[in-house]
Amino acid sequence: MSLALIDCNNFYASCEQLFNPALRGSPLVVLSNNDGCVVARSAEAKQLGIAMAAPWHTLKELATRHKVIALSSNYALYGDMSERVMRVLSTFSPVQEVYSIDECFLDLTGAKPSPRACGLKIRHTIYRLLGLPVCVGIASTKTLAKLANHYAKKREAFQGVCDLAELSLGEVDRLLGETPVGEIWGVGTRLAERLSSSGMRNVLELKRAAPTRIRTRFNVSLERTVRELNGERCLALQTSHVQRKQILCSRSFNQLIKVISPLEEAVAAYATRAAEKLRAQRLLTTCVVTFVRTNPFRTDLPQYEKSTSTCLAATNDTRLIAQAALQGLRDIFREGFGYQKAGVILSHLVSDHQRQADLFEQSQNVERSDALMAAMDRINQSMGSGTVKLLAEGCDPRWAMRSQNRSPRYTTRLEEVAVATAG
Ligand SMILES: [Mg+2]
Repeated sequence: MSLALIDCNNFYASCEQLFNPALRGSPLVVLSNNDGCVVARSAEAKQLGIAMAAPWHTLKELATRHKVIALSSNYALYGDMSERVMRVLSTFSPVQEVYSIDECFLDLTGAKPSPRACGLKIRHTIYRLLGLPVCVGIASTKTLAKLANHYAKKREAFQGVCDLAELSLGEVDRLLGETPVGEIWGVGTRLAERLSSSGMRNVLELKRAAPTRIRTRFNVSLERTVRELNGERCLALQTSHVQRKQILCSRSFNQLIKVISPLEEAVAAYATRAAEKLRAQRLLTTCVVTFVRTNPFRTDLPQYEKSTSTCLAATNDTRLIAQAALQGLRDIFREGFGYQKAGVILSHLVSDHQRQADLFEQSQNVERSDALMAAMDRINQSMGSGTVKLLAEGCDPRWAMRSQNRSPRYTTRLEEVAVATAG
């Protein structure tokens, strides 16, 4: 079996550089919500030693000295480019697991003339069609494919595509022996430290450990990792046919909110986004959860955190979902706190062809609702998200994220498309 893990290189930074070529060759970082921490770095920013998740305010001096460019996250752009990447990748194999915004697994078993040749073609095609660099790691298990991707990125000899099956066992073990355990998928910093103090500093040392001993000393998921490192498949591909269990939409505010009306606008907006995602996946929800919380780091302020859920007859109607979410908010809102975050979760999802008619609902209402929602989605997709919306979302949301330095939404807003000028 040949599993490939395709990962976009420095995805957010690459999307920015694609539409603004003046950014190429410069150290560039993309910041998280509210311009807090570094969430992506260009190769040049990595070379300066800027760490992932570093708080931006600690980098100001370095940034001035090296002219580091910092951009706010542009999720409309990254989300849209991600969809295009995944769509192109899906043409290379019928079995695809989209693992994150910039990564997916493909089953390349039996690819002609070879999985590695197919990997090179994938790399070439994504660059030609979308202008984004990707690396491909291929191996017999997901854990090994992740590592192979790491080698494809870090070792130039692989030219961006590494198929561990093309190497001899000795060569593979030599690579694993040079790789710290912290590089393994699912092994975080703390687990890596525990492994190191038990004498397993590199991947090869973990690979050679006895799986049952690992289970008793650590846990069953690390045991699976050891088996996967030895080529035994424990983690199956989760193709998109496997339905999502819930849809979450939430954000932190740019300032603490003390009164209910901006929270209502935010919750209505999150309910709207969540309902759009629900319809895009042809799902219905039967349970709407609303939650709010204060800022846990402001220990000088009173703390509060609460969630509530409302059950509904299966629906994907934005109006019903927002209504339920707002009712939930009114139930849990308490005066006297500074709220930092609110969110909406849709759970107990069912496929939209399993709709059970509500006893009191006329099927005519369902048809009208479907037609209205389809019209809203069409307008918002073609003319930009939020063109048609619920009045409850408000018209000038002050609670919206701070993103002072966001690039244009080149691919999803007509008024923000890139303009080419001939000089
Ligand atoms: Mg990536």
